Amino acid sequence: MKTIAGLPTARGFAAGPVFIYRGDGEIPIREYVIEEHLVENELRRLQRALVETKRDLEGLISVLKERTGRSDVRVFECHLMILEDIVLQDETKDYILKDRLNAEAAVRRTAGGARTQFERMNDPYFRERVRDLDDIERRLLKTLIGYDRNPKLELSTPSIIVADDLTPSETVQLPKEYVLGIAINGGSTTSHAALLARALAIPAVTGLGDITSRVTPGEKVLLDGTNGAITLNPDKATEAEFETLVKRQKELAEEVSSGNPAGTLKDGSEVLIYANIHPGVPIAGVKEYGARGIGLYRSEYLWLANEVEPSEEEQFEAYRDAVEFTAQFMPPGASATIRVLDIGGDKMVRGITVKESNPFLGNRSIRYLLSNREVMRTQLRAILRASAYGNVRLLYPMVSCVEEMTEAACVLESIKQELTAEGIPFDKNIKVGAMIEVPSAALLANELARHCDFFSIGTNDLVQYTMAADRGNEAVAHLYQPLNPAVTRLVKMTIDAAKCAEIPISVCGESAADPVVGLYWAALGVDTLSMSAAYIPVVSKLFSSLTREDLNEYAKIPDSLSFGATAQAIYSACHNWLVTKVPGLSENLV
Ligand code: PEP
Ligand code: MG
Repeated sequence: MKTIAGLPTARGFAAGPVFIYRGDGEIPIREYVIEEHLVENELRRLQRALVETKRDLEGLISVLKERTGRSDVRVFECHLMILEDIVLQDETKDYILKDRLNAEAAVRRTAGGARTQFERMNDPYFRERVRDLDDIERRLLKTLIGYDRNPKLELSTPSIIVADDLTPSETVQLPKEYVLGIAINGGSTTSHAALLARALAIPAVTGLGDITSRVTPGEKVLLDGTNGAITLNPDKATEAEFETLVKRQKELAEEVSSGNPAGTLKDGSEVLIYANIHPGVPIAGVKEYGARGIGLYRSEYLWLANEVEPSEEEQFEAYRDAVEFTAQFMPPGASATIRVLDIGGDKMVRGITVKESNPFLGNRSIRYLLSNREVMRTQLRAILRASAYGNVRLLYPMVSCVEEMTEAACVLESIKQELTAEGIPFDKNIKVGAMIEVPSAALLANELARHCDFFSIGTNDLVQYTMAADRGNEAVAHLYQPLNPAVTRLVKMTIDAAKCAEIPISVCGESAADPVVGLYWAALGVDTLSMSAAYIPVVSKLFSSLTREDLNEYAKIPDSLSFGATAQAIYSACHNWLVTKVPGLSENLV
């Protein structure tokens, strides 16, 4: 039996056979002869791809070394050796220079030749190296063509998916009924693939290093998404223990859904707990977990799932379903907050988003919509039409200045006039809000509040942009801390601005689902926490053990530490306070 540690990414436990997912197999490339004057350029492209791939591998190695010790990095060191092999490099350059092949074709030719040589060798060690060669070839080709793969996964038995990485589109296309859990070499807890796993209530562990080469297809493993570990060759006792954990988690969910509404404190006061959802996730689950409304509807998944622009009618039907569901099954007054298209960054849609050198700082989200008015108008029409069926709130993502809100308001106003002229019903007083997820928005919260009916803090991005730490990059995961005072100050500023303007404020970033952090946001004064539904029972259970007075005490914990306390120290102090205050907490957190 061997247990490998990774990052706890989506809560829950799963036991089952391994399915190794290797993306879409061979990456399709175009092979062509280049004109002589382009040879230099092609050599430069190759050189750039070699340098970038080397950098990626070195990054991976240093992270793994830190976490797991030398032996675990062998695979990637071997990849690096292959990448730097002068013979292979020269051969590739020759294909460009002499045969005038494009760089992609040259890489494929070289890899093909080396693969044949390795396969001919009798030594099983060398035959195994074919896999390494495949990996390197894929990395290089992906770097060369900026590849965005989007394969479908054919699964016939419920399995634990083991993969190098999963893009959001790959994750969203997983056949959910067959996916027991997800284990990933790279990634981080806040990548969109990770969020999806949570939204889909699929237990997941990321940052496992080289898990794809440590397991064999079909072998049984235990995956612990709560603590971030995967166990290979489990013994009987461990398996039995695992079963108990699975059972306990189910009981907790049942207990909460049959008790007080989610977010009721011991003294009867409330912090509303809503669910984050997106098209493609069975909405019924939201009710099962006790959500009191929909705090974030990630509309972009209509684009991501099919990679085509959804029509107004398709959008309208999807939004109306969510709105009707909220009206029918959630408590009176519940709202469905529909966020408009939030693409760009790591949510790229082939044929729609364009390649940018720095997509996280590019023409994304509200910026994209304001510069693609037809897309914006179609979506706003669909959302407004859905608002005739229940309580809808309209949310703009990635707002970074007041002008974006005023410009968006003009577009909305013209759509309202259009619908009125057409005699189409909609909510004339639809509430409009801004996501506060970039530092400039938090700093401008007082000004933005004048143009908003509500705020929703997106901590996933707010942490990323405040700390300049990519939310999907495991190598900088240590910087990605919601309780870093730099972040909490911005959150506090936003809450103060909302209180001053008397508008509601929620947190819809996944940090709300971490009981230690979610409670802190509530203690600072947010009215609503919105999270992946599967997390609601645990957070709700915690709230039911505390009073408002406890929350006030909790809010003061960071101030009670010495000046300059680290994010980690603040987190530990909050965690310790909770463990002392709520006996049996660690059990509930399972
Ligand atoms: C956020 O940034 O916190 C958020 C909720 O939006 P997303 O995760 O979809 O970027
Ligand atoms: Mg965001």
